[in-house]
Amino acid sequence: MVAEYFCVKCRTPFLSEHPLDEDGVCGMCRHGFTDFDAAYSYGAYEGKLREIIHLLKYGRIEPLAKPLSNLLIKALPLDQLFDCVVPIPIHWMRRISRGFNQAELIAKPLADYMSLPMVKAMRRRSYRPPQVGLSNAQRRDNVRGVFSVRKPEQINGLRILLVDDVFTTGATASACAKALKQAGAKHVSLLTLARVDRRPVMAEFRFTPADSMSVGAA
Ligand SMILES: [Zn+2]
Repeated sequence: MVAEYFCVKCRTPFLSEHPLDEDGVCGMCRHGFTDFDAAYSYGAYEGKLREIIHLLKYGRIEPLAKPLSNLLIKALPLDQLFDCVVPIPIHWMRRISRGFNQAELIAKPLADYMSLPMVKAMRRRSYRPPQVGLSNAQRRDNVRGVFSVRKPEQINGLRILLVDDVFTTGATASACAKALKQAGAKHVSLLTLARVDRRPVMAEFRFTPADSMSVGAA
């Protein structure tokens, strides 16, 4: 499927014009999560896709990483070139309790497919409570200053493909992109498996067009 609608600010593709306001700007940009240059997602965070992501992340069924990574490949933008793939980090305490970082597991086969290095460029400094149930502003406060770049010289001047499993508000990815750009990255695009359709929980934005899933060219 090829997206026909794009946000004029971040170039995020959408299946319909519904998520865009009258100026052609998406909800993410309207809410100020604009530190990355574009965001691509394979599908909506629901149904089978959501189940499989849960099985990987919480059921810890690691062999699911490869087929999920194939879905990332399908959502890759065809009009962009990248220098490296960077997984969004989780805190080391969470990594120990889960046994892995799911973003790394899905990013590695993708990087191999693209013949690019996967660079674990970022560190998540402090342990924060899960973002479930927080408002947009709370999510932004929750991740402020949390991410840092390990070695700026590793990513200086590069075009980065940032990878995570789920795109919720963009607050986490935006904080990562901000840190990467401050460290010298030239471009940061986000690629995720699934994008949350937040219409039901966005009561305060009920009367404006809401975010929906975006797709890359498959
Ligand atoms: Zn946008």
